Amino acid sequence: MLATLGQLLILQERDVRLRRAQIELNHLPVEEQQIAARLATQSAEFEQLKQRARHIESERKQLELQVADKETAIRKFQTHQAQTKKNDEYQAMGHEIERARKDIDGLEERELVLMDQYDEAQKAVQTESLKVKEYERVAANQQVELKRKKAVLEEQTGALAVAVAELQQQIPSAELSTYRRILQSKGDLAIVPIIHGNTCNGCHMKITQATVSAARAGNKITHCDDCGRIVYWPQP
Ligand SMILES: [Zn+2]
Repeated sequence: MLATLGQLLILQERDVRLRRAQIELNHLPVEEQQIAARLATQSAEFEQLKQRARHIESERKQLELQVADKETAIRKFQTHQAQTKKNDEYQAMGHEIERARKDIDGLEERELVLMDQYDEAQKAVQTESLKVKEYERVAANQQVELKRKKAVLEEQTGALAVAVAELQQQIPSAELSTYRRILQSKGDLAIVPIIHGNTCNGCHMKITQATVSAARAGNKITHCDDCGRIVYWPQP
């Protein structure tokens, strides 16, 4: 194999690793956002449950106030009843008292329902609170892991970039720019082996016999007739 081709293959291998590491590195902020978004969703659900419990409790307190009002009214009716000398007024007060007591019964029944609902809402709050705490713990671990991954990837990309730059200096500029141009236009690989004896492993088209022979001879850089990638005869 041509020495330059051997160098280009090593360069390509470093370029590929560098690109993969960079893609991973660029994806880390997305992962961070996903963790934060899940945490936010969980907190919002928790907040909603707490609000529901507060709402039930305040509704129950409203009923309590209404019961107190009714009791005050009953005491007034009773006073009035005790003071009146008119029979019809006495009876009217009796009806009022009876009606207010019925109202109180209704209000207290509703209060009991709300108390049950409040207990259930509180249980849901407690369950969700445990979930939030657990998720916060998981998210904290994930964030530590992401930071560690970021440090590793930054070190890798830094080292690979240096290795790429060093190797590039040793490669003749014409071949280097050909390689860079093909890599740029193909996006994946610029140099590929010939497979099955006559097929380009880049575009998977058949290669002419002349090109295969030239690649096998290994005296010059040879290109696929179809896609233009550099092709080489794989060493046994
Ligand atoms: Zn090809």
